[in-house]
Amino acid sequence: MVSTTATETRSTDLGESSATWGGDIQSRKEQVALALFIIVPFLAVAAAVPLAWGGWLGWSDVLIMVVMYWVSGHGVTVGFHRLFTHKSFKPNRAVKIALAVAGSLAIQGPVIRWVADHRKHHKFSDRDGDPHSPWRYGTDIKALAKGLWHAHMMWLFNPEQTPQRKYAPDLMKDPDLVRISRQFPLWVAVSLATPLIAGGLITWSWQGALTGFFWGSLVRVSLLHHVTWSINSICHTIGERPFVSRDKSANVWWLAIPSMGESWHNLHHADPTCARHGVLRGQLDTSARVIWAMEKFGWIDDVRWPVKERIDGKLVKNAKNHAAAAA
Ligand SMILES: [Zn+2]
Ligand SMILES: [Zn+2]
Repeated sequence: MVSTTATETRSTDLGESSATWGGDIQSRKEQVALALFIIVPFLAVAAAVPLAWGGWLGWSDVLIMVVMYWVSGHGVTVGFHRLFTHKSFKPNRAVKIALAVAGSLAIQGPVIRWVADHRKHHKFSDRDGDPHSPWRYGTDIKALAKGLWHAHMMWLFNPEQTPQRKYAPDLMKDPDLVRISRQFPLWVAVSLATPLIAGGLITWSWQGALTGFFWGSLVRVSLLHHVTWSINSICHTIGERPFVSRDKSANVWWLAIPSMGESWHNLHHADPTCARHGVLRGQLDTSARVIWAMEKFGWIDDVRWPVKERIDGKLVKNAKNHAAAAA
């Protein structure tokens, strides 16, 4: 399907190609199997945490976990993704450095490597060459289960790394970003140590330092990992596809808050440089809010906010109308 060039052909392919999970003809059996693959392991993790750490969760742990999740998460979504990968706005130097450091705290690899992988993903999305497509092994249930696992995290273990000189030559020319990328082990240490120190100082106890580390470092990093990876796995498998894109990217509403707006992934693939991903009514996108605030403060400019006519033109229903009118 991906070799088609006409826009109208692509838009109909999204819902009508065979065995499209999340397409118009998805069977109930496939939906249940997929939901089980997603929900059961998650419930196991959710149950293990209170069982193992019963009583070991105080208000300071919650505070530290939320702040660290918010800072490192928006470092990835606003910094690594919307700024460094897609150039959705122009920052001043301080903002650029702050975002590169904040994103590094998410422990998802150095910024330049992250960007190279993600640009390659957009170049080949759901075709040969995509570093993490859930459709890599085929479209039947077994192949898709394997593909989901691959897209979610196993792709990270691929010994063949994305060439950074080819995919991120602009960032390689920026000494600030090269330095922050090379300092990645330092940012990992800062990311893990900050909750421990904060927990100890807030509660003035060793136990507070330990629980601060458990919730603010381990649980926070793991949660954010899985949310980020879910954009690659879940948001390329199930969900709604109101926009025309040449891949299987989809909007998944229930990931909007934890993913800080990144799960409006169908719009993102339809219009990758747009600074806001949740462009339709009621679509929460805290990353866009952060960008909006930075623009108000005068720290960034040239923000690529959504243009209504452009967005409307990318809606599948309008593309279909257009195709019908042209026929
Ligand atoms: Zn994608
Ligand atoms: Zn992207």
